[in-house]
Amino acid sequence: MEEDYHCMDTILVHGDKGYDSHTGAISYPIYQTATFKHPGLNQSTGFDYSRVSNPTRDELEHTIAKLERGKMAFAFSSGMAGITAVFNLFSAGEHIIVSDDLYGGTYRLFEEICTKQGMEFSYVDTSKVENVLQELRSNTSCIFIETPSNPMMKVTDIKKVAKLARESNALMVVDNTFLTPYLQRPIELGADIVVHSGTKYLAGHNDTLAGFVIANDQKIIDQLSLIYKTTGAVLSPFDSWLVLRGLKTLGIRLEKQERNALKIAQWLKEHKYIERVLYVGLAEHQGFDISRQQATGAGAMISFVVQDKEIVKKVLENLQIISFAESLGGVESLITYPIAQTHCDIPDEMRERLGVNDRLLRLSVGIEDANDLIRDLEQALVWGID
Ligand SMILES: *Cc1c(COP(=O)(O)O)cnc(C)c1O
Repeated sequence: MEEDYHCMDTILVHGDKGYDSHTGAISYPIYQTATFKHPGLNQSTGFDYSRVSNPTRDELEHTIAKLERGKMAFAFSSGMAGITAVFNLFSAGEHIIVSDDLYGGTYRLFEEICTKQGMEFSYVDTSKVENVLQELRSNTSCIFIETPSNPMMKVTDIKKVAKLARESNALMVVDNTFLTPYLQRPIELGADIVVHSGTKYLAGHNDTLAGFVIANDQKIIDQLSLIYKTTGAVLSPFDSWLVLRGLKTLGIRLEKQERNALKIAQWLKEHKYIERVLYVGLAEHQGFDISRQQATGAGAMISFVVQDKEIVKKVLENLQIISFAESLGGVESLITYPIAQTHCDIPDEMRERLGVNDRLLRLSVGIEDANDLIRDLEQALVWGID
C-alpha cells in the first residue's frame, strides 16, 4: 500500500507524458485550438478536431485513467455531462438500481430525463448489500452507487456489490467524487465504470467545472467513445489545464483536508448544540470498517445535525471563514444546507426516510488552519439567548 501511495503522488505531479516533448515545457501547454492542419491527403498529426481529441485534454485523460487504474478516461465539461453520457449506454426497458442517498442532480437526471426515455430506476440503501440483491430483476442492466453517499455518508461495500453486478450481467458504476482515486479505486474493487465531478477534489480550487468517466473494458470504452465524440460535452483545453494543475497537489490537499476534518468532526461531536455527526473517519461511524477495507482514507466531508432549525440560520449567517456555498472538495471550506440546495429536487418522503431534514448541514473541509475553522464554527453556533 505504501508503494501505491508514492506511485500515486508521482502520477499526480507528473501526469502521463509529464511535459511537452516539442518544447520541453514543464507545464503541459494549453493547445487552444479547435482544429489541426493535415500534413497531406489521408494524413493526420494524430489530432483532427478538438471535440474528438485535443492534446491538453488527452494528457489529462491519460493521467486520470492511470490514477483510477482504468484503460481509458473521458473528460467532460461537468460531472453531470459525464453521468449523462454513461446513461446513454442504456435504453428503454432497462432497469437500474441506484443508491437512495445521492447527489440531487443525478437524481434529477434519472427522474426527469432517463425515465422519460423509458429506463426504470429503483432507489435502495446500497450500504446493505441484501437490498441490492432483493431489487435485482432480469432486466437490471446497471447498479449505480455513491460511496460515501451524499449527504448521509453511507458506505457501500464496492467489492460485494460489484460481484452481484457481475453475476447478473449488470454494469457497476461508482461515483467516486468524494474520495477520488487517491483514497479509493473502484475499478480495482470490481467496478466497470467510475464517474467523477472533477469540479470538486480533482480540480480542487473552486475555479472550474469538469467531469470524468473511466472504464477498463474495451467494449464499454468503444461505446463511450462514440457517445463522447457525438454528443460533444467535452472539456475545453484551458479547463483541462486547470485540472492538470489542480491534480498536482491532490495528495497533499487531501491529506491536510482529512486531518482537518477529523479534528473538526471530533470537536463537533462534543458540542452541546450538535445532535449527530456523520463522518466516515470516526470509529463509531456505521461504515468505518468497510471504508477501512476499501479506501485508504476517510476524506473530508462531514454532515452534522444541529438541535434546532433556528441554529441552522445562525450558523449560515455567522460563519466568517467558511462560506455558505454549493460545491465541495476545494481548498476553501464550504458549508451547504442540503435540503435547500443540493437536495431540493428529492421528494419529501424520500428525504425524510434518508434523514435529510431541515437541521442537517454538510461541511466540505478545506486546507485552512483547523483551529481557525473550529473557532469560526464555535462563534457561529449560537442559539436563543447565546
Ligand atoms: C457535484 C457532484 C456531481 C455533479 O457534478 P458537476 O461537476 O457539478 O456537474 C455529481 N456527483 C457528485 C457526488 C457531486 O458531488
